[in-house]
Amino acid sequence: MEQPRVGIIIVAGGSGSRMGGTLPKQFSLVGGEPILARTINNFRKALPASRIVVVLPAEYIEFWKNFSARFNVAKHSVIEGGKERFHSVKSGIESLSCELDLIAVQDGVRPFASKDMILRAVECASKNGSAIPVVKAVDSYRAIEGEESKIVDRTPLRIVQTPQIFAAPILRVAYDTPFRADFTDDASVVEYSGEKVTLCEGEYTNIKITTPSDLVIAEAIAKTDI
Ligand code: C5P
Repeated sequence: MEQPRVGIIIVAGGSGSRMGGTLPKQFSLVGGEPILARTINNFRKALPASRIVVVLPAEYIEFWKNFSARFNVAKHSVIEGGKERFHSVKSGIESLSCELDLIAVQDGVRPFASKDMILRAVECASKNGSAIPVVKAVDSYRAIEGEESKIVDRTPLRIVQTPQIFAAPILRVAYDTPFRADFTDDASVVEYSGEKVTLCEGEYTNIKITTPSDLVIAEAIAKTDI
C-alpha cells in the first residue's frame, strides 16, 4: 500500500505550571535527552517522510533552537503557540498548508509513543478517518456530588492519549471554529464538528509528563527498550 502523506503537529506551547520550576517540562531531560527531542525523534523514526511542526511558547523559540542543537534531534520546523492547546493546534494546522492525507497531533510531553502504536494509529486513521488511542481505566473513580461521593463504573471508561490522527480535511474543517472550554483534545473538537471518531489501542507506557513524579516514572521507562 502507498504510504499516506502525514503532517505531524507536536504541541509544546504550554508553560507547564503544574510542574513547578522555571523551565517548561517539555525541555526537562529524561535519560539525558530533552523530552521534546524524544517525542520528535519517535515520530521521525516511525514516519521518516512526514513533515513535523513543533509548536512552542514564543519566548522559548530561540532557547529551543540553541538547546536542541546540543542533542541529536530530527529535522522539524518551529512555530509560535497560542493561549490554549486548541490555539496551538490551530496554528499548527495553518502552518501545514501543503497537500496531506493525514494530520497527527501529539502532545510534546508524551515522549514514549512507540513506533508500533504510531503506525497502528496511522493505519486506523487511513481506514476510518480518525484514530484516537485509548487504554482501559485501571484505577477506581469516584464522582463528587456536593458533600457526597459516588463510585463510578469504570468498565466503559477509557483513558485518552495522543497521537490523535485524522484525515486532513476532517481536522481542518473541525478547527475552523471558535474555542470552547470543553475542547480538551482533538477528538472533542472533531466530534463537535459533527464527525464520529474511531478509537484504537494506546499504550500504558505512553504517559503524559505533567507532574514532577511523572519524571521519576519517565526515567524508568527511558531505561526500558520500548
Ligand atoms: O496543559 P496540557 O497538559 O493539556 O498540555 C498538553 C499539551 O499541549 C502539552 O504538550 C502542552 O505543551 C501543549 N499546549 C500547547 N499550548 C498551550 C497549552 C498546552 O501547545 N497553550
